[in-house]
Amino acid sequence: MAFLVIMGAPGVGKGTQAARLGTALGVPHISSGDLFREHLRQRTELGQEAQSYINRGELVPDEVTIAMVRERIRRPDSVNGGVLDGFPRTVAQAEALEDMLSESGAYLERAVQLTLAEERIIERMSGRRVCQAQGHIYHLVHKPPLQDGVCDIDGSPLYQREDDQPETVRKRLVVYRELTAPVLHYYRMRDILVDVDGDGEVERVTHRIMRALGRKVAE
Ligand code: AMP
Repeated sequence: MAFLVIMGAPGVGKGTQAARLGTALGVPHISSGDLFREHLRQRTELGQEAQSYINRGELVPDEVTIAMVRERIRRPDSVNGGVLDGFPRTVAQAEALEDMLSESGAYLERAVQLTLAEERIIERMSGRRVCQAQGHIYHLVHKPPLQDGVCDIDGSPLYQREDDQPETVRKRLVVYRELTAPVLHYYRMRDILVDVDGDGEVERVTHRIMRALGRKVAE
């Protein structure tokens, strides 16, 4: 079973694209950020431990994050693979991922890097709104909901993530450059990294990713 990793700076569109790819390929979309937000909503111990890091725009410690993702990958719906989004974010996490995949007889097929100019990233994050119930993603300008402040899919309220405030966004971009950019190098060295232009309409970017992966695109 093959896994894919979607990489790129925060706000580049990883969540949106990873969800679409998961649907297209019939495998789960596994987002470490969504897993953390679920823990926050449920007020679990792990959620409480992670909260202050998330609100400051910092990374949650590797140990906690790796254990959470390992548990998710072991669930039965991942037997045919999955699309990882937001994980790995450090070289230690990338190494742990290699181990946990081989433990389950799986491998990492490709890491896809979505690229986007920094001013477009900031614009995307400031307009992003997320549904409270299931994390469906909207944008005030590029993908507004039919009714203001309400999710089209499940009718729950939309909110702005606390870590999408400008100050925290800047911090997240610095963390990305310092800690996550080395993971790109790690995958480039293993010859599994592909770069895909993340600008433009959602559907076009999905097509670009599918082509880069050598998958057939349904027209
Ligand atoms: P995201 O939704 O992927 O932007 O993640 C939101 C926040 O969750 C990040 O800014 C981190 O604080 C935390 N987080 C998500 N994934 C990871 C990870 N792989 N390692 C450490 N922290 C993470």
